[in-house]
Amino acid sequence: MLPLGSCGVGVSDRSDLQDFSVCSSDSFWAAVARQRLSWIRPFHTVQDCDLSQGRIRWFEGGKLNVSVNCLDRHVHTCPERVAVIWERDEPKSEVKLSYRQLLEMTCRLGNLLRRRGVKKGDCVTIYMPPCPLAVASMLACARIGAAHNVVFAGFSADALAERIRDAQSSTVITVNQGVRGGKVIELKKTVDAAIQSCPTVQQVFVAMRTENPVVMTAKDVAMEEEMAKEDTVCEPAGMDSEDTLFLLYTSGSTGKPKGLVHTQAGYLLYAALTHRYVFSYHDGDVFSCVADIGWITGHSYSVYGPLANGGTTVLFESTPIYPDPGRYWEMVQRLKINQFYGAPTAIRLLLKYGDKWVHKYDRSTLKTLGSVGEPINTEAWEWYHRVVGQGRCPVVDTWWQTETGGICIAPRPADPDAEIVPGMAMRPFFGIKPVLMDTEGKVVTSNDTSGALCIAQPWPGMARTIHNDPQRFTETYCQPYPGYFFTGDGAYRSKEGYYQITGRLDDVINVSGHRIGTAEIEDVLNQCSAVAESAVIGFSHSIKGQGIYAFVVLKKSIDVQEADVTRQINDMASKKIAKYACPDYIQFAQRLPKTRSGKIMRRVLRKVVDSELEGLGDLSTLDDPEVVQEIIQGHHDLL
Ligand code: ATP
Ligand code: MG
Repeated sequence: MLPLGSCGVGVSDRSDLQDFSVCSSDSFWAAVARQRLSWIRPFHTVQDCDLSQGRIRWFEGGKLNVSVNCLDRHVHTCPERVAVIWERDEPKSEVKLSYRQLLEMTCRLGNLLRRRGVKKGDCVTIYMPPCPLAVASMLACARIGAAHNVVFAGFSADALAERIRDAQSSTVITVNQGVRGGKVIELKKTVDAAIQSCPTVQQVFVAMRTENPVVMTAKDVAMEEEMAKEDTVCEPAGMDSEDTLFLLYTSGSTGKPKGLVHTQAGYLLYAALTHRYVFSYHDGDVFSCVADIGWITGHSYSVYGPLANGGTTVLFESTPIYPDPGRYWEMVQRLKINQFYGAPTAIRLLLKYGDKWVHKYDRSTLKTLGSVGEPINTEAWEWYHRVVGQGRCPVVDTWWQTETGGICIAPRPADPDAEIVPGMAMRPFFGIKPVLMDTEGKVVTSNDTSGALCIAQPWPGMARTIHNDPQRFTETYCQPYPGYFFTGDGAYRSKEGYYQITGRLDDVINVSGHRIGTAEIEDVLNQCSAVAESAVIGFSHSIKGQGIYAFVVLKKSIDVQEADVTRQINDMASKKIAKYACPDYIQFAQRLPKTRSGKIMRRVLRKVVDSELEGLGDLSTLDDPEVVQEIIQGHHDLL
């Protein structure tokens, strides 16, 4: 339970505590920070923030070490507790590490990094799939005071190079080869290609994920061999609360990737608290976030949140359909997973394959199911709840961003009165005060309305700036609504005061004067029995202002005529929304362009439909560039 007593007020239940956390934010966060984190030196100032200036500082005067908070303090109380379960690509070959083992690994690596010249303030780029050595690399950086920059190990050499250059890393950590979905991926070769255009890189640490040797150059360091020579004790650096913990480049659904900066104390505290309360994590539970560590979700909920809480976390190296579409649920059964946290894109994919893959396995250990990354459409939510969770596990649809550091809006199943409405992110987390803005930039006070989602006061987990571009940070997040943090997303607040995310504001379209979120139309399209997935965008229309263009992917298992689906789509859209929500064009596609984190890149679809093929923008984060060609071809065929 939260340290109610130590807040020093007579807080009696959760809704009082929510009010207290927002109205007396400083007292709330000070109490929680003292209770939840181990400090080397206490902080003297809870916060010094001015959102209108883009100044965000928490717990100043305090010193701590994040790796000590994630490891040493648990080694003191329960050294043999399992810290990480590495669910390797090869099914049934998981590897478990205790807190003691993970600390030893981290210390050896910290010593090695130090011996090879990595200093406090440097930034180390990590290009590795989820594995214990990747976690140890992140924590070893934290131990010696270096920042880390984890780059998703599916990114191309160019995308990696751009991020290494922007972060000015002189050290890169990688593996010889990756293994995913049964395929070997030449990660070291990608690093070799990337660093050709990165003059700052002086050394590359190479761990061995497979037994296949790779060509080593003068810059390369055989990581395990060198680690074996190091001591298992490594003096932790005392870090200021506001020293950088890591940079993380956003997935790039909307434009040039930005390196968001997160700092030590506030980030860790927020990740730990949200992990415990959003998912109802209890000591002894096995927590599984299947996001890659290259995304913020992996940072906060595979690594920092669970480890700060002394939990057991699963690192998932594989894919949802390897070796078959039962992979997640077989893993749930084998590892006795209690909380499962995944993305709507994977849920939609698995739903296509039918229920039998879920029913095959025992899911009785599951207590909470989480969703993140995109709005979860009704059909996927219901399937997750009814089929995967047997109607027994709360589904927490968690809204947040790389910028927010941790979950900001989500149902909290630990609440005794936690009602959950399907497809709604529901309630703000402690200390979060969401507001909706109207088109004139004024705060909307009534319920049952939509607006631009902003957050009215700072919280410890928020990003501090954009690396190398503080001005872009203030312009993007602080200036659109002075004094508020602007999220770029739209939301609806129901009569009861619950929040539903309606999608990115760029994705709101205006058809004959009706403003409508593309997510809302997609939600209806996805409810058509033959539709697996869809993406809706607006295009300029001489009469209506904007028209609706829908890309539709059909389910593999169902044999239908496109004309029948078109009819069904139009029926559903006019019945469930309004006649004006019927698409003007429907393009049937084999697949949709997605970011490597699985999000649909509507930006690219918009450009194709607007025939602006020159200006497709940064495609480095696109999962498979060939999809764009297919989409262009399909668009030509349709018109
Ligand atoms: P970029 O900012 O570079 O375009 P990105 O926004 O996709 O990339 P992330 O920070 O990983 O990068 O994603 C955050 C965004 O994902 C949110 O702003 C929101 O649009 C969407 N999102 C995340 N969770 C949810 C959710 N539960 N419901 C609806 N949308 C969500
Ligand atoms: Mg974003």
